[in-house]
Amino acid sequence: MPTRELLEQEYNKLKEELLLNLGKIIACPSVYDASTIAPHIPFGKGIDSCLDTTLKICDDLGLKTFKDPSGYYGYAEIGEGKELVGVLCHLDVVPVDDGEEWYDSPFKLIQKDEQLIARGVADDKGPTMVALYALKALMNLNFTFSKRIRFIFGTDEERLWQCIYKYIENEEIPQQGITPDSSFPVIYAEKGLLQFTIEGSGEAITLKGGGAFNVVPSSIIYTGEKQEELAKELSRLNYAHTQNTDNITVQGKTAHAADVENGINPISRLMTALYNIGYHSPCVDFVAEYIKESPYGEHLFGIIEDEDSGKLKTNLASVNIDEDNAVLSFDFRIPVNTNIEALVSKLEGITTPYGLRYRFYDSAPSLYIPKDSELIKNLCAIYHEVTGLDTTPLAIGGATYSRAMQNFVSYGMLFPDSGHSSHQKNEYLRLRDIEPAFIIYSKALAYLGQKIEKQIIHDL
Ligand SMILES: [Zn+2]
Repeated sequence: MPTRELLEQEYNKLKEELLLNLGKIIACPSVYDASTIAPHIPFGKGIDSCLDTTLKICDDLGLKTFKDPSGYYGYAEIGEGKELVGVLCHLDVVPVDDGEEWYDSPFKLIQKDEQLIARGVADDKGPTMVALYALKALMNLNFTFSKRIRFIFGTDEERLWQCIYKYIENEEIPQQGITPDSSFPVIYAEKGLLQFTIEGSGEAITLKGGGAFNVVPSSIIYTGEKQEELAKELSRLNYAHTQNTDNITVQGKTAHAADVENGINPISRLMTALYNIGYHSPCVDFVAEYIKESPYGEHLFGIIEDEDSGKLKTNLASVNIDEDNAVLSFDFRIPVNTNIEALVSKLEGITTPYGLRYRFYDSAPSLYIPKDSELIKNLCAIYHEVTGLDTTPLAIGGATYSRAMQNFVSYGMLFPDSGHSSHQKNEYLRLRDIEPAFIIYSKALAYLGQKIEKQIIHDL
């Protein structure tokens, strides 16, 4: 295991080049772009050029590289041996919303107040580049890898993960590894994800609102009948709303579905108020009787929770009802010890009497690596040795690539006081986080790249 002193020297030698190359991949606007999709460019030109640029950097660093001929992913590898260790990264970024005011172009890496700022600098280009140069430090120190270490670059993480599924279909699967796309010390549990719709035949009412499965909608507009009566009921319930000349807007509060309790759902509020003033339909009745205001699905199943990952969370993401169809869409974050099939059959038992059908949309398995596993204990020990900070492993409701493969955990590179800026305007990476993360990743890759899997805590 290389000493901290040696790794600090390597960091000082490499940091300028690291930032230069980070700037290069930031400058590729790797946002999904349907208008530039072409054969072998499945997600558009920005993402493709980012993948090419990253693989070129890896080539120059002395790694063996490979680009999937269909353009879904690439990887870069070093070391010898039968066993393979993975580092799962992603190069795609979320779009910049119109009207978002950034200090400068989101695709130009700038430094301001001890922060690096750009789209993707925290999620996930910065952590990718830091982990890559942490590997370069080991190469410079002539570290002997008795396993191969492979950086796998995904390109569709922010949408449908098609890249990583394609990788799994076609390529060698690492026996274990890390995903530098979350927080330190380490994520040992990620909830299961289930997205689905509840569908019925058309209803007399027209009700449309909400959007992406994983977002609590911010508001919904009602244009139907009985607006006076509805406004009165909304006031009686203390539900924020605005009455306009020919419609009513019910206000909610947006939040990520993983943190649904921080939001307020305007769809269930509107449907509850409609129900109370005597409007009945299968969807309205189902929402008013079983969804209500709880973010935890307790009226459907009672409270479901476990010690490792907390409570079940439920988000009613959108409603689309007209005379032809009725569709409600939901996003559930499911505790790791809960059986998803059992949950679905219970749900069907509730919706069927309303004449409503369950329809699967998407899912992701939960992730759970025991806190006392060698992988978790050693990664925590490395983090503690470098930072001296608390090493209690974390459980999250969000999803990272780690759950796509067995024996993977998300590891950094946010520190407890770094703050979260992913997907937001002026996304940042604190300059002072780079060196400790670099040293942690170097040590972690040295640990993962050696054959000995026993406790290393005492050798640190
Ligand atoms: Zn990410």
